[in-house]
Amino acid sequence: MANPTAKRRIVLLGATGSIGESTLRVVAAHSDRLELVGIAAQSNHARLAEIARQFNVRHVAIHDETACTAARASSAFPAGTKIHGGIAGLTELATLPEADIVLIAVVGIAGLAPALAALAAKKDLALASKELLVLAGKFVMAAARTSGSRLLPVDSEHNAVFQCLEGCRTSDVRRIVLTASGGAFRDWPLEKLARATVADALKHPNWAMGPKITVDSATLANKGLELIEAQWLFGLRAEQCDAVLHAQSIVHCLVEFTDGSMLTQLCPPSMTFPIQHALLYPARASQPTAPALDVGRPFALDFRPVDEQRYPCLRLAKESMRAGGTAPAVFNAANEVAVAAFLAGRVQFLAIPRIIEHTLATVKLIEPTALDQVLAVDAEARRVAQHFPA
Ligand code: NDP
Ligand code: MG
Repeated sequence: MANPTAKRRIVLLGATGSIGESTLRVVAAHSDRLELVGIAAQSNHARLAEIARQFNVRHVAIHDETACTAARASSAFPAGTKIHGGIAGLTELATLPEADIVLIAVVGIAGLAPALAALAAKKDLALASKELLVLAGKFVMAAARTSGSRLLPVDSEHNAVFQCLEGCRTSDVRRIVLTASGGAFRDWPLEKLARATVADALKHPNWAMGPKITVDSATLANKGLELIEAQWLFGLRAEQCDAVLHAQSIVHCLVEFTDGSMLTQLCPPSMTFPIQHALLYPARASQPTAPALDVGRPFALDFRPVDEQRYPCLRLAKESMRAGGTAPAVFNAANEVAVAAFLAGRVQFLAIPRIIEHTLATVKLIEPTALDQVLAVDAEARRVAQHFPA
């Protein structure tokens, strides 16, 4: 549909989360070019109502049916707001006729059906939820190719690679290296890790993010998921994707070409940079939403190789990336179950890689030909992970 206002109209799934809040800052800072037309969350209807009022949003989706019923009964939403419910509601939002671009920023795989629906409806897709490509990269990439829609990475490292690859041929890329801060335990003595608490794991040195991804940063499972995500997004082989520790989170990737040259992208660790890039692409913001890097002041950039003894989850992610098929989906499902158990205080920090390893060894791996097969493997992996003896 033609856009008479020339503003890019955005549907934001996961509006109440960490990426959601950063996106709201970007939309507020660039309100002459961006407009929010739909917002969704799992259950936080009070915050959704505030956002609907502030940004004059007409369409709201709430996944949790009880929360949805409460929202419909409340007077907090502006008059005329349409409240959509359940996964069908999220999908209705992702295909709103008035939307140009759908940003998927929900934790887990709840964004998968809406993402595929958005692509089928020829919407551009901005992707923060890395789980979707890890689980169903084959199907999401095929849907993007069929629709001709843009698939714009929001994850900071992938957004950085996307920027570096503009105008380059993938065949000229030797490898990409994603940077990792090393998370909360990067300087902890290894023997202390067994006693790491949830509060310890949630102290990320550089980024303020949701709890699940913050724990994933402490184990480097997050970097593992990102390597798999990168493989799909940029059409690379497993051995072309690697990670390096970089303490400051200012350099977001290194792209090495066959001639030995490397390109990189730098900005401070604020998700507003990749979000504004994805939402305004191919144009650029006239000014940054958060303060840009000040090179007039001294700053240092450190890099060191990843010690896989400290980060067994990265090793397991790489093994599942090399195995291909449903192995990354099993890795992702087992990790989600393990992290939830750790956050709930049911298992220790060091149980996370053990649960993943056990699940990968137990669930039969296949090369999926239909999305249903992946979803069945995902469910089986969750069942196996949940029954791991704590
Ligand atoms: P948060 O936990 O902060 O927020 C999650 C959001 O998703 C909330 O709005 C939540 O709603 C919503 N949500 C959760 N489950 C569902 C569901 N079943 N249906 C609909 N909405 C749901 O997460 P983050 O913002 O940190 O992360 C979101 C995604 O982005 C993740 O996939 C993460 O890996 C990825 N990502 C995050 C980065 C970051 O800096 N935070 C960086 C790069 C990628 P409610 O509030 O109601 O629970
Ligand atoms: Mg990232």
